[in-house]
Amino acid sequence: MEKLGIKIMRSPANSKYVKRLNRMRIINIIKENELISRQQLAEVTGLTPPAITGIIRELIDTGFVKEVGLGESQGGRRPVTLQFNCLAGYVIGIEITSQEITIALADLKNVPIDIQRIKVDMKNPDVAVQELINTIKKVILHEDHQSKRFLGIGIAFPGMLNTHEGTVKRAVNLGKKWNGFPLKTVLTQEFNIPVFIETNSKVAALGEKWFGGGTNCENLIYINMGEGISAGIIMGESIVQGSQGYAGQIGHTVMIEQGALCNCGNRGCLETICGIPAILRKVTAELPFLANEDALQQRFAIHNEIQINDILEVALQEDSYARDVLRQTSRYVGLAISHMINLYNPDAVFIGGKMSIVAEIFIEEFRNVIATHTFSEVGDATPILISKLGIDSGVIGACALALKKLLKSPNSNIFEDGVDNVEQK
Ligand SMILES: [Zn+2]
Repeated sequence: MEKLGIKIMRSPANSKYVKRLNRMRIINIIKENELISRQQLAEVTGLTPPAITGIIRELIDTGFVKEVGLGESQGGRRPVTLQFNCLAGYVIGIEITSQEITIALADLKNVPIDIQRIKVDMKNPDVAVQELINTIKKVILHEDHQSKRFLGIGIAFPGMLNTHEGTVKRAVNLGKKWNGFPLKTVLTQEFNIPVFIETNSKVAALGEKWFGGGTNCENLIYINMGEGISAGIIMGESIVQGSQGYAGQIGHTVMIEQGALCNCGNRGCLETICGIPAILRKVTAELPFLANEDALQQRFAIHNEIQINDILEVALQEDSYARDVLRQTSRYVGLAISHMINLYNPDAVFIGGKMSIVAEIFIEEFRNVIATHTFSEVGDATPILISKLGIDSGVIGACALALKKLLKSPNSNIFEDGVDNVEQK
């Protein structure tokens, strides 16, 4: 454990802030250590024993910390050991895509307990957000969850946002009606708990770093391959946001000048080649030219339509047309990843999103492209990995977003609330 210094600030406003900061530091030290005593906390933080006692009393009163027995004696009385109560509260994580809402509940260690997917057409925000509210209510009012204390809602959203205000700036795959929609305000008014909203690939990157395959990475890039293609970049403890929060929009890097028209208004963006709608368009156009015995052709003959899951499932067969299509399109994503590796030199790149169930096929192509478009010292040393959280990375990341804001920000006030409904287990 690292010994942390204390900042000395004297004005009342600052002393309140410092108190919050110290409480935040202590709760996270207790959370990261299975068992710890007040004396050890004083040694680690440099805070005085009375200050530690006061903070711990508050944390026990609000249910976030519990006393769980006696530790080893250091020469005197055996000290009382403390433990983080990960069931003191829960967060709700939500991932929104153009056709679906995924919702999960998680305890304070982000163990998801109830992941559900609900088909909702998200194109019209007024209708879709009411559906979203109804879905959240149904989950939290379920008899299994009624006694739980919900501390916050995290949302992974497929578009560009003003994260501070919680408004949508632009969601090219949902449509213009979303521009300016105050999603955070609407949900905060409805549920009266903090709501945090972030672009889906950034949220998924956070989930991967905290709870997925990236726990040992300092810097990582997460590529979301779904309706759109986007990247979440984490450098150190921070999500790379850029000046206006638009960083990571690799789906709109131009791959073919004067190529197909993109939802963003430009032409030839990566998404127009490799996003789910683009792949469906390509397959639908080429289907009449395929042999009758082709597996996709046969599925079309039965259902009279082809969905992305048909393509992904058939692509698992060697030498299939579906696999060829994914290989061809994934070369362009590989190019975009090469650029990202050249720019950021990450510890690892994670591939997630709806199409990640065939990530093995993609990754083979990515490696070929990366080998020819990056410095070998960098390209060879950068693992390209399948997201450990798989298709749940967005929703688990949304829970992680809420937990990060609630447990790691000194502006969080969850430890000052009363003890009502805190589940004591
Ligand atoms: Zn575009």
